[in-house]
Amino acid sequence: MLPAIFFGHGNPMNALAENPFTAAWRRFGLATPKPRAILSISAHWYVPGTGVSISSVPRTIHDFGGFPESLYAVRYPAPGDPGLANRVHQLLQPLPVQLDHSWGLDHGTWSVLCHVYPDADVPVVQLSIDRDKPAESHYEIGRKLAPLRQEGVLIVGSGNLVHNLRAYAWGRDNPDPYDWALRFEDRAKGILLAGETKPLIRYESLGAESALAIPTPEHYLPLLYILGARQQNDPITFPVEGIEGGSISMLSVQIG
Ligand code: ZN
Repeated sequence: MLPAIFFGHGNPMNALAENPFTAAWRRFGLATPKPRAILSISAHWYVPGTGVSISSVPRTIHDFGGFPESLYAVRYPAPGDPGLANRVHQLLQPLPVQLDHSWGLDHGTWSVLCHVYPDADVPVVQLSIDRDKPAESHYEIGRKLAPLRQEGVLIVGSGNLVHNLRAYAWGRDNPDPYDWALRFEDRAKGILLAGETKPLIRYESLGAESALAIPTPEHYLPLLYILGARQQNDPITFPVEGIEGGSISMLSVQIG
């Protein structure tokens, strides 16, 4: 059975960087049995409704503004996998899932996978996050996706456990993390290591820090899919740790 992993993707410029985060992403790719395909749940496909990308040649989406031209030149030419898209559609029934021909790979997916699988030789399918659904539903979808782990599919969530762009120190090197960011991350790690999920589904009640750590839910919710795919006795590890720009947790959460 393959693991499942939540990646903190952080700044899109990580796609072009060589730093401790990208080095850890590469190590994960080398240490994990190579999947036959990847199902990615990215913070950046946060829309009304659940969709699964069915293109066999997904385009690289540059869904950001104000970055250097070199970032817009990045292409991640991994193929799609319509068979996997149909399998996801089947697993999630009776939930209505749109087979989506327009989405490709957004930077939540490719800015990390270009380090994990730099040869882009593992097919990738994306699943959208329905912004109209409560947190519990995202966890439940993760539970329904769990069988994929035995079918050679690596389930990837890409977001950030703590994601506050208003507090982010743009252009400053290595500022100290905010206390509230560290406190929230520590608390979440403790809950994860205790094997609990309910407090993470009800994240809004995790103290005053949660409103600062999760001002909007889209970067947090991919974690709930990964927790949903967890089987009893799966170990939980954190292959990447650190806080970028003071207010973005780069924590990765691996199950299995
Ligand atoms: Zn992001």
